[in-house]
Amino acid sequence: SAASLNMPAESAELPGWRHVYSGKVRDLYEPDLPSYGGVHPLGDVVLVVASDRVSAYDHLLRPGIPDKGTVLTQLSLWWFDQLADVVPNHVVSTDVTVEPGDGLVPSDVAGRAMICRRLDMFPVECVVRGYLTGSGLVEYRAGQNVCGVPLPSGLVDGSRLPEPIFTPATKAELGDHDENVTFEQVAATVGDDVAARLRELTLAVYARAEQIARERGVILADTKLEFGIDPTSGAITLGDEVLTPDSSRFWPADLWEPGRAQPSFDKQYVRDWLTSPASGWDKASDAPAPTLPDDVVDRTRDRYLEAYERLTGSRLS
Ligand code: ATP
Ligand code: MG
Repeated sequence: SAASLNMPAESAELPGWRHVYSGKVRDLYEPDLPSYGGVHPLGDVVLVVASDRVSAYDHLLRPGIPDKGTVLTQLSLWWFDQLADVVPNHVVSTDVTVEPGDGLVPSDVAGRAMICRRLDMFPVECVVRGYLTGSGLVEYRAGQNVCGVPLPSGLVDGSRLPEPIFTPATKAELGDHDENVTFEQVAATVGDDVAARLRELTLAVYARAEQIARERGVILADTKLEFGIDPTSGAITLGDEVLTPDSSRFWPADLWEPGRAQPSFDKQYVRDWLTSPASGWDKASDAPAPTLPDDVVDRTRDRYLEAYERLTGSRLS
C-alpha cells in the first residue's frame, strides 16, 4: 500500500537545480538558474538522478544498495550509445560542475546523474518480452495470451517466445502495480500512429539489445522502455533509464532452463530473502518491509556490478 511505501524524503538540495519529482528510484530536477535569466545554457533540460534506493513488491526498502544509482546511470548511458542508430535518446550531457550553479551535473551526484532533454512522457510502459515469465506468465496461464497477443500452448516459466512481443502496461499510481494493457488500449490513449511507432521502436530496441547481451552470455528476457516527445524537435525519443537490472530481466544464458524461475542479475536476493522465513515478513500484509541484512545488501550490490561488467565488458570506475 502507498502508506507503507515510505517514499524518499532525502532527495538532495543541488545547486542550480530545483527538485520537482521523486519516483521509486530516480529524482528529477529542473534548472534553477536565476543568474542565467532562468534559461539553461543547454536548452530545455532536466537533471535525472538515480539513487541507491531499492524497491521490491512495491515497497521501498532500507538500506539502499551502495553504487546502485551509479550502475543504473552508467549502464543506461552505455546502452543509449549502443542504440544510437536505432532510436534518438534524451541524454544531453554528463559534464560535472566547474562552478556551483553553472547548470552542469553537481559533484554530489556525479556518476549517477545525466542532464537530459525534457520530454513529454507518454503514459505507457513499453514492455517487450522475448521470454515468458512474471506477469506475462500469469496472464498466459489465465488465457494463453499476453496483453491480447495470442501465444502457442505448452509454454512454461522461462520459455523463449516464438518471436518477441510488445506487451505494454499503464503506469500505476505510487504503490500500485503497473497494469498490462492491449495494443488497442495504448492506441486509444496516444493515437494509432504513435502506438504503432512505440511498438516498432520497442521491438527494434529489443532486437538490438538482445543480440548484444547474447554475445556476452546474457539473455535479455524482457525489458521496459519509456518514450516521450521532444517538444523542441517533435521526435519520439527514448527517455528514463534503459536496459538496467531494474527495468529488465537479465538471465545468465548458461543457466537457462525453462520450467523453473531463472537466476537473474537483479534484486533476486532481495526478493528471495523477503519471501523467506528468515525475513519474518508477509508481503501481503500492510506491515512495513524489514531492514535488509548486510549480506543481502552486499550480494545484491555484487549482482548489479556483475550485470554492468558482463554487459559492458568493463569495470565500473
Ligand atoms: P517506477 O518506480 O515505476 O519506475 P517512476 O517511473 O515514477 O516509477 P522513477 O523511474 O524513479 O519512478 O522516476 C523517473 C521519472 O522521470 C519517471 O516518471 C519518468 O517518466 C521521468 N522521466 C525520465 N526521463 C525524463 C525526461 N527526459 N523528461 C521528463 N521526464 C522524464
Ligand atoms: Mg521509472
